[in-house]
Amino acid sequence: MAQAPILVMNAGSSSIKAALFDGALSELLRIEATGVGSAGEIRVGAQKRPMPLPDHATALTALFDALQAQGIALTDLHCVAHRIVHGGTSLTTAQRITPGVRAAIADCVPLAPLHNPHHLAAIDALAALAPDLPQCASFDTAFHATIPDVARRYALPDLPDLPGLRRYGFHGTSYASLVRSLPEQSHTLPQRLLAMHMGNGASLCAILGGQSVATTMGYSPLGGLTMGTRAGEIDAGAVLRLVGARGLEAADHLLHQQSGLLGLSGLSSDMRTLEAANTPQANLAIEHFCYWISRQAGSMISAMGGLDAVAFTGGIGENSGMIRNRILELLRWAGNFPDYIVPAREELQIAREAQTLLET
Ligand code: ADP
Repeated sequence: MAQAPILVMNAGSSSIKAALFDGALSELLRIEATGVGSAGEIRVGAQKRPMPLPDHATALTALFDALQAQGIALTDLHCVAHRIVHGGTSLTTAQRITPGVRAAIADCVPLAPLHNPHHLAAIDALAALAPDLPQCASFDTAFHATIPDVARRYALPDLPDLPGLRRYGFHGTSYASLVRSLPEQSHTLPQRLLAMHMGNGASLCAILGGQSVATTMGYSPLGGLTMGTRAGEIDAGAVLRLVGARGLEAADHLLHQQSGLLGLSGLSSDMRTLEAANTPQANLAIEHFCYWISRQAGSMISAMGGLDAVAFTGGIGENSGMIRNRILELLRWAGNFPDYIVPAREELQIAREAQTLLET
């Protein structure tokens, strides 16, 4: 008998996205509940319809109802596999969710207060609705468990009351998927591979022999590159001044929501809009994005002791020839190397990890 489908869920702060895969890991359907807490909308495949989604509980119910309307009940599923942003120090591989794993995800809430609570709410809602349905978790941080201690540490003293103040790195599912699929193009996996995930969030990863040895994001997904609305690398002294002058909440909002491409351009966080705008501010934002990628790429190349290939992924990496060409131009000093475009298949990677877990 063919294996039952796997539902991959990504429960975020204002949206819940789900993708359904069959037992052969072909994608069957996407369902998204977006605008949770504002103008809600539910999308099934290409069809959208507005729907009041005041909170996550309503959004989850709407999503499961939409699945049911497609003829799929929760009890028909092989499992639900969750994308979890933070696995902390202990969750360094995909896991079947047990009470112990759930508790470990909850322990990581202080590390990802905007993400892990929503993941836990989805896990708990599913456990209540379908107690026998297996649930699995893949962690954005897990791929970076191989980063050596020297690259992980901040130069801070030991702070026993604040455990976990170190670099983690994110976009791990995207990088794991890239490592798996790049050889379809490159035949063998390049030894010293610089991977660039460029979407609304963006990071670089130094992948040596298939393993992460450095990445630009650190303690939180706020660090590293200039992003859609996130500031990326910024001196801690400037952050302290911002917090002192504006207060914690306003500084947090400014650094997460009003900075990056949006802050620099005063126009948009969306690269397509900036490319079309051709104003001095939009052009500065684009150049800032590319320049800092090339500056931080130097750091990644140093961590690998050289460079054999570059791989681009994510909405900007896959679609913007202009950005790819500018970055490659800025990296000409690194010599001749092949570059590849790899479609981001994070949901597929999560489904694959869950399937492997349940087979073993
Ligand atoms: P997320 O990180 O939310 O998953 P995506 O990976 O979809 O986001 O990336 C979104 C970004 O990709 C946006 O800045 C968008 O403008 C950009 N993008 C998508 N298509 C193009 C394109 N053809 N040219 C330039 N940028 C693009």
